[in-house]
Amino acid sequence: MTVVTPYRRLVLLGHPVGHSLSAVFQNAAIAAAGHAAVYEAVDVPPDAFAATFDVMRANGGGGNVTVPHKTAAFARCDVTTAVAQRVGAVNTFWVEEGRLYGDNTDVTGVRAAFAALGLGALDGARVALLGAGGAAASVVEALRGEGSVVRVWNRTPARAAALVQRAGIPDVTVVDSPEAAVAGADLIVHATPAGLLDDATCIVPSALPGSVRILDLAYRRVGTTPWVAACRAAGLRAEDGLTMLVAQGAAAFARWFGHAPDEAVMWRAVREARGEAASGPT
Ligand code: NAP
Repeated sequence: MTVVTPYRRLVLLGHPVGHSLSAVFQNAAIAAAGHAAVYEAVDVPPDAFAATFDVMRANGGGGNVTVPHKTAAFARCDVTTAVAQRVGAVNTFWVEEGRLYGDNTDVTGVRAAFAALGLGALDGARVALLGAGGAAASVVEALRGEGSVVRVWNRTPARAAALVQRAGIPDVTVVDSPEAAVAGADLIVHATPAGLLDDATCIVPSALPGSVRILDLAYRRVGTTPWVAACRAAGLRAEDGLTMLVAQGAAAFARWFGHAPDEAVMWRAVREARGEAASGPT
């Protein structure tokens, strides 16, 4: 697929979107690249999503889709990438010749988060995945072909079973408790919004071995999630969803403009918005 035009207006469609940092770093990268475009977050309730998305097709729009619209976006795109098909969700879209294209760059984001944890190679790694929604599906896709053994736990077991069935990877199985998922794990990925709540105790850090790596896909506009903070305080290597956020955004930018953004510019904008010293990813 080739991108034929730079877009004047890019949107993030979600509900809610007030917490999002995407506009901050996308607009910084757009300005640095000299594109005549603007990125803005638009709060779209579920019952208005289909009509809003169809307007994008008619007007030649592009952008991102976030909770709770990724599955609906996948269903309404005219063309989807193989990755989006395997995940069953679209987080990045654009229009070519009147047709809506959809991709899932969350998978790229998850791989960047693994790398930030020093997990370049996951062959043989035992992975605990807590949650079975769209973000969890992108984690499973990022682990495809890595040779890792993945145990999935979800509050609603049927959803975990559906995720595993869709993935069709023999070494991804459902377990019936968070404890069963994390026992012996080398990497624990938390893919629920619990990190946005003031609950640091979903898995008690002191019960984990010092070698385990922690990835909480949630992020906060300022600071980190309570669980990541608790894990770090316990001496564990832990990352929140910020690296994933910027990496999925960088991959989306490349879809819209046909070239990679300056990720250092994106990170600088994120750091400034969070009131931190400007630097690269942690
Ligand atoms: P989703 O599709 O709505 O799925 C939500 C998942 O969280 C489901 O497994 C759900 O379980 C579970 N869940 C919700 N509330 C819970 C609770 N109180 N206790 C236990 N489990 C709960 O959402 P998603 O897209 O997967 O997003 C999950 C998280 O990842 C969110 O925090 C989101 O912000 C984050 N995320 C981050 C990035 C990034 O770039 N950093 C990208 C995507 C998502 P049930 O099936 O039982 O409802």
